[in-house]
Amino acid sequence: MVKICMESKAVECNLCNSNNSEVLQEIKPYKIVKCKNCQLIYLNPQPLSEDITKTYTADYYATNWGQGLVENKYRLRTVERFKKRGKLLDVGCGIGVFLGLARKNGWQVAGTELSEFSAKYIRDKLNIECFPGRLEDLESASGSYDVITLWHVIEHIPEPLEVLKRAWELLSRGGMIFLATPNQNFWRIARDVKRRMGVNRDLVENEKHLYFFTPHSLKKMLERAGFKIIETGVDFNKCKPKLEHFLKYYWFSFVSRVLGVNCSKAMLMVGQKGN
Ligand SMILES: [Zn+2]
Repeated sequence: MVKICMESKAVECNLCNSNNSEVLQEIKPYKIVKCKNCQLIYLNPQPLSEDITKTYTADYYATNWGQGLVENKYRLRTVERFKKRGKLLDVGCGIGVFLGLARKNGWQVAGTELSEFSAKYIRDKLNIECFPGRLEDLESASGSYDVITLWHVIEHIPEPLEVLKRAWELLSRGGMIFLATPNQNFWRIARDVKRRMGVNRDLVENEKHLYFFTPHSLKKMLERAGFKIIETGVDFNKCKPKLEHFLKYYWFSFVSRVLGVNCSKAMLMVGQKGN
């Protein structure tokens, strides 16, 4: 969990505002809880957002995954199955690998980043417009973008529903949102298998995550923000891909598409703002 010393605050369910939850795991001083009303899984209490922002330093971007060339080519390929060109905003754009690829393919691109280091890097080194702050504070006019992407970002955001609602406002009619995030179905199965082998395993993979989505809870949150779900699939999230990663990706994609069961390590979801 978030290891640096932080103040924390109790939160209610971001999806349905309920306080009625059950504890899935306790990792002091935090608990991972599941809302009894809507099944959203989240950290409670949560660190303060201003403290979280301070942890996204140059070191974080130097060592964390999500910025590999191959994985971002896969993501762009997914976007371009639905839309070929237009204005694209990448929320939490990291060091801009995805934005650079999209620009090369003819998209008009911009990003947002909480990290001052990252936002400056993108403006100065890549010459791409990058807003240094929260999406909710971005002052673009409603309907400004054709595509908004959030690659492994939604699970880090203190109030994800508010961000998705703002994304909906910022999209043009028929505009699309693309998200990737860890799939809690996979992590629950992994924990249960390890337990049977006598090994204790956390329900979480990353110390900075505040939310732990399943395909069901992410779909509900997107719909609550106004989106129609177009596709649920698998995210290729390997910074240094090997043959086994490709095989797993195509296997989980096949099972998800044919059987409708998504237990991939990271899921991908596509939503659309109605015409
Ligand atoms: Zn709830």
